[in-house]
Amino acid sequence: MTQQTHSFQAEVAQLLHLVTHSLYSNKEIFLRELISNASDACDKLRFEALNDAGLYEDAPNLEVRLAFDKDAKTLTITDNGIGMSAQEAIDHLGTIAKSGTRDFMGRLSGDQKQDAQLIGQFGVGFYSGFIVADKITVESRRAGMKADEGVRWTSGGTGDFLTETITRAERGTRVVLHLREDALEYANGWKLRELVRKYSDHISLPILLEKEEWKDGENDQPGAMVKTGEWETINQATALWTRPKKDVSDEQYGEFYKAISHDFEPPLTWTHNRVEGSTEYTQLLYLPGKAPHDLWNRDRKAGLKLYVKRVFIMDDAEALLPSYLRFVKGVVDSADLPLNVSRELLQESRDVKAIREGNTRRVLAMLEDLAKHDPLSAPAEGGDGVTDVVSEEDKAKAGKYSQFYAEFGAVLKEGLGEDFANRERIAKLLRFASTTTDSVSVSFADYKARMKDGQEAIYYITADTLAAAKNSPQLEVFRKKGIEVLLMSDRVDEWALGFFQEFDGTPLQSVAKGAVDLGKLQDEEEKKAAEAAAEAFKPLLERLKATLKEKAEDVRVTTRLVDSPACLVSPDDGMSLQLARLLRQAGQPAPATKPVLEVNAEHALVKKLDASAHFDDLAHILFDQALLAEGGLPEDPAAYVKRVNALLQG
Ligand code: ADP
Repeated sequence: MTQQTHSFQAEVAQLLHLVTHSLYSNKEIFLRELISNASDACDKLRFEALNDAGLYEDAPNLEVRLAFDKDAKTLTITDNGIGMSAQEAIDHLGTIAKSGTRDFMGRLSGDQKQDAQLIGQFGVGFYSGFIVADKITVESRRAGMKADEGVRWTSGGTGDFLTETITRAERGTRVVLHLREDALEYANGWKLRELVRKYSDHISLPILLEKEEWKDGENDQPGAMVKTGEWETINQATALWTRPKKDVSDEQYGEFYKAISHDFEPPLTWTHNRVEGSTEYTQLLYLPGKAPHDLWNRDRKAGLKLYVKRVFIMDDAEALLPSYLRFVKGVVDSADLPLNVSRELLQESRDVKAIREGNTRRVLAMLEDLAKHDPLSAPAEGGDGVTDVVSEEDKAKAGKYSQFYAEFGAVLKEGLGEDFANRERIAKLLRFASTTTDSVSVSFADYKARMKDGQEAIYYITADTLAAAKNSPQLEVFRKKGIEVLLMSDRVDEWALGFFQEFDGTPLQSVAKGAVDLGKLQDEEEKKAAEAAAEAFKPLLERLKATLKEKAEDVRVTTRLVDSPACLVSPDDGMSLQLARLLRQAGQPAPATKPVLEVNAEHALVKKLDASAHFDDLAHILFDQALLAEGGLPEDPAAYVKRVNALLQG
C-alpha cells in the first residue's frame, strides 16, 4: 500500500501555526466548521446523484454522526456524503481553496491576540479542527469508487501530512479528532448537543449522537453515563428557510447568514418569505454589514444559493438578482425549476425572471424600510414642530441605512442604468452630500423640499473626490445665492446620471455643463450686467480664443464665478469633462472634447489681462489653473511651472 508524506502549502502552514498557537476563548467553532463541511459533502452527493442514482449505493439517507470516546480522547464526525479520492484529500486538505479563508489570511495583523479573535469569529474550515486536536485522522472514500480506493489522511497540524490507501466499505468521510488535554470537554454529549443547537441547527440533514443513559455504579463504584447503542437526532434537521419565520430566532438567522456568507460580521437585516402564485419559491435574503474587498472586481462571484425543492443546486446563482444588488446574500428554494437546471438554463428561464423580479422588489422594500427608520437618511417630512416619539423599531434600525449606504450606495446607483422598471424607487434610495450638508444623507426629495422659489432644476456637480467637488469654483455663484448643490464623487455617478435626467418632474442639471442658466433665480439686473460684460469683453475674448485655440473650444464671460478668475465647463452638447476623464483612466476611448473656458469679468486678474505685457503666459496660466481647480492636470505641467515662475520673477 502506498504511503506518502506531503508538505502543507505555505499559507496552510502559517494558518495552522496560528490556529494552534493562539490562546483564545472561542475554541468551539471547530464543530460548526466540520459539520458544515459534512453537510456540504452531502449536498454535493445529492447533486451528483441527480444524474447517477447509483452513487447512493445502499445508503440513501444522508446524515452526520457525532461520536466521542472519553477514554481514547477522541471526537469523530462522520458523514455519508460525496467523500474524497486520495488526490482530492491531498489537494483539499493540504491547500487553502476557499476564497474566504484566503481573505481571512489577508486580514491577519500578526498580533496574536487580535488574530485569534478574528479566527474565533470567522472559522477557518477544516483546519480549525487543530484548535482542539493535536492530531487529526481523516478516512474517506469517494462515492462511486471502489472500497479499496479509500484514503487515510493523518496530520499533527505542523509541517506535513501523511496519506495512505485504505479499504473503506462506507462512502463518505470520517474525521477523527485526537483531542488536546485542554479540549477534553468536547468528548461530552451535553456539550455537543449545546454546540449543535447553537451553531448547526439550520443544517438540513440530521445530526445524530449516540444516546447515553445513567448507570449507577456497583460495589460502591461511582455511576457513569453509558452508551445505549441507539442514535438520536440532535438538531431540527429542517432547512432553516423552510421553517416558519416565527420559529426562527434572530440568532439562528444570524448564524445561518455567517454559514452561507463566510462573513465575519452579523448581517444588517434580512427578509424571509414564501412566495406563492404562478412561480413558487422561498427567499431568504440578507443585507451584509460590510462590503467585501472585491466588490468591484468583475470576476468576483456573487449571487444566491439556489435550491430546488430543498436539493442544493448551486452557489453564486447570479441570475437570481440584478447585478446592482450583487451584495445581497441568501438562499432561493424554487418549487418549479427542474433539478438538472444549468447556469445557461437559468439565464433563459421565465421562472427565474419572476424570481429575480420578486427578489429585487423585496430587497428594495428592505432598503426603503431601513431608510425610513434611519434619522439621518429619512426623507424630510413636513415639520410640525413636535419631536417624534422614537419607536423601538426606529431604535433597532437607527443608523443601518447610513451604514448600508456607505458600503454599497455606489453599487446601488448602477441600478439607474440597469433596472429601468425600478428606476424611481432606486432614485429615492440614493443619498448625497451637498453644499449644505457634509454627510452623505441628502435625498432628491430632501433637496426638492429645500429648493428656492423659482428654482427649476436639481443642481449637482461631479468630481473625483468630495473635497474637489466641494471646492470647485463652479459652485461660487450657487453659494452666493444660497442654492444647494448635490456633491457627487463616486465613479459611477456620471454614468448613472446619464440614465436619470429628472426626479419627480424636476430636471437634473450639472453645474459644470453648458452656460450657467439660473433661470428665474437670476434677476433682470444681473442678466443685463452679464450681457453688457459679454459685449465689453468681446475683444478680450477673441484674443483669448485665438491664444488658446488648441485647448479651449470656446471662451466666454460667466456669471457663475465669484472669487475665481476662470473655470472650465463642458460644452452644452458634449460629453462631460469628468466622464471623459474617467473613460480615459479606464483605458477606454473618449472623445477629445475640448472644454469651454469661462472667465469672471469681475475678477481683477481678468480685468488687467488685456493690458498685460504677458498676455500669452497669463492666458495659458488662467486655463491651466482652471484645470487644476477641478482636479485635472495641465497637459504640459513643466510649461505651466515655467510660465508661473517667469511671472513670479516679474
Ligand atoms: P471549504 O469547506 O470552505 O472549502 P475547508 O478547508 O473546510 O474549506 O475544506 C476544504 C475542502 O476539503 C472542501 O472544499 C472539500 O472539498 C473538502 N472537504 C472537507 N471536508 C470534507 C468532507 N467531510 N467530505 C468531503 N470533502 C470534504
